[in-house]
Amino acid sequence: MNDYLIAGGIVITLGKNNQVIHDGAVYVKDGLIADVGKAKELKERHDCQVKVDARNKVVMPGFICAHHHLYSTMARGFAPPGEPASCFGEILERLWWKLDKALLEDDVYVSALVPLIECIRNGTTAIFDHHASPSYREGSLDVLARAVLESGIRASLCYEVSDRNVPTGGLAENERFLKRMAAEKSPFLTGMMGLHASMTLSDETLEKCRAVAERYGVGYHIHVAEGSEDHSDSLVKYGVRTVERLVSRGICGKSSLYVHCIHLDDRETELIKETGTTAVHNPESNMNNAVGVANVLGMMGRGILVGLGTDGMASDMPAQMRCAYLLHRLENRDPRVAFCEAPQLLLWNNAEIAAKFFPVRLGVIERGAAADLAVLDYIPPTTLDADNFLGHFIFGMVDAVVDTTIVAGRILMRNKQVLSLDEEEIAARCRTLAAKVWSRI
Ligand SMILES: [Zn+2]
Repeated sequence: MNDYLIAGGIVITLGKNNQVIHDGAVYVKDGLIADVGKAKELKERHDCQVKVDARNKVVMPGFICAHHHLYSTMARGFAPPGEPASCFGEILERLWWKLDKALLEDDVYVSALVPLIECIRNGTTAIFDHHASPSYREGSLDVLARAVLESGIRASLCYEVSDRNVPTGGLAENERFLKRMAAEKSPFLTGMMGLHASMTLSDETLEKCRAVAERYGVGYHIHVAEGSEDHSDSLVKYGVRTVERLVSRGICGKSSLYVHCIHLDDRETELIKETGTTAVHNPESNMNNAVGVANVLGMMGRGILVGLGTDGMASDMPAQMRCAYLLHRLENRDPRVAFCEAPQLLLWNNAEIAAKFFPVRLGVIERGAAADLAVLDYIPPTTLDADNFLGHFIFGMVDAVVDTTIVAGRILMRNKQVLSLDEEEIAARCRTLAAKVWSRI
């Protein structure tokens, strides 16, 4: 039987016309949402089993993460030797560029499974990943793809091309994977042209990346102006600021993600708007690296599509949303702002971004959309309706435990038990491999 009901809870549809349906139900058929409404009516209309009892729970579209690094798992608990890094450039050199270089095939696979489990645990059903493993480059995206398919969630994958180890390192891997994606047309996997950042890419490399991206009709997934190093490097070497350089090289556009966008001037912001490029905000990571605060409200005010990511720090998207909410209130010294904008980033903008890359509708509960759902333990202590939903989301549901996670109708977690992967076994394997990775560093 390919159809079932999720019934009894509060259904929050999101989408253009967000509805809050008490004692609601979702009818799932062949991986899609085939009906939504009151539980009583759906039970009359559809003669099938109630597979998920959602009483005392909220049923929402699964969350989407617009920027992730699955390979970052083994940094957890690792103390790089020497003095603590005092700036972003040193964080890259002392931690990330040492860690990614130490990863071999098994490390790439197992270190991806850990955050994929965390995605399932947090109701995150689609991610945009950005990968680096210079000592195991060729085939690394296939290894990630295998982990993603085993987990059951959806992912956009790319390898971050950079000249920092070898010129155009990672380009061939992106090209190989894009060719595979073009042939497979998978509803679960898709590819982009990954680029590290302007500061580790020559003009020649950008040109080569552009040729491949245009051949496969894909956009770029690149870190932009994360630390001040990125724009000073561009100014010194090329005489223009980061975004001006990237746009002049054609590394931009409606299918491209500019991640971070912190150190931008007015002209660069305008260029992002003019080229229809999407910006992705990662507040926890930016605070952790002490790189500054992106002018997210300013970008949104200009009509730039801004999404929300975790930069590999976590897989909990509501927590990331609340971080954005608090950060921009403080940054603007204004308690009137970010109440609508922070949830907008996660609940509506990330869905709009996903729509550009995945062949199924994500981030909304409506007929024909993907049955990608998060069922959260949440009993509202005050009235909950479409008008005050954001207040419940920011101050209550953000801390709700996810009970059930579903992708394409497949139940990946039920009663807080991950079904698609063996959490204990994977963590044990990761600890063993991480010890070896650390010793190689
Ligand atoms: Zn990143």
